[in-house]
Amino acid sequence: MPEKIRKPFYKIIEGIVQKAKRKRLIIFPNEDKKYCYEYFLSKTKNRYMCCGCTILNHKGVRADIQFENTEKEYVKPGETGHICTPREYATLKIHEKTENIVRAPDFVIQTFVKYGIERKTLFLFDQQNRELGYEYHVQKTTGNFLCQHCVKAGQYVIAKFHLDEKNGNYIVLSEEEHVCDLRPYKDINEHQDIILNESNFKIYPNSNETKLFMSWMSSCKEKRGNP
Ligand SMILES: [Zn+2]
Ligand SMILES: [Zn+2]
Repeated sequence: MPEKIRKPFYKIIEGIVQKAKRKRLIIFPNEDKKYCYEYFLSKTKNRYMCCGCTILNHKGVRADIQFENTEKEYVKPGETGHICTPREYATLKIHEKTENIVRAPDFVIQTFVKYGIERKTLFLFDQQNRELGYEYHVQKTTGNFLCQHCVKAGQYVIAKFHLDEKNGNYIVLSEEEHVCDLRPYKDINEHQDIILNESNFKIYPNSNETKLFMSWMSSCKEKRGNP
């Protein structure tokens, strides 16, 4: 196994097994992701241990998550190798009752001001390509996030934000699947109203940037109806 395993070659799934909430780390040795090594979270050791090897009494096959819940997150496998046979991903028990939970850094909530109104969006990054994902908008009445692109097609795909100071905030997804397409991730600055005053702008000598800057300025004036 490589020294550092990065997404999409691993994932963490949360689900219900034998009536209890469980967390599993899944490592895919191959690109086709058909087979995997399944690790359970050992609370006493606070690290992941291979399920298959533990059953075979081959202890100590472990993996640690580094920089958990951050953009730098990766998995560091231990030195002891597997003697177990990789499991078929689609048939894992943890899938039987999965809690559709997404944790940082796989989502981002952005608050911005557009036309003078504060708006909030949730962006859920695609597991394969982090430049793509699904965009949700907050519903004022419930505080939940809704995919408006799916609403147009009659599908209500909802995501609920949960505060969890101990383990990191997370999102619970509804069972409805997106019928809309993945879209590119956009930074809030592209949505944000740009408020300019003389102290915070300068004109660059590069002609393209000057042009861009001028068009920002005129669009701001239009929005505010300034003379
Ligand atoms: Zn193993
Ligand atoms: Zn959608």
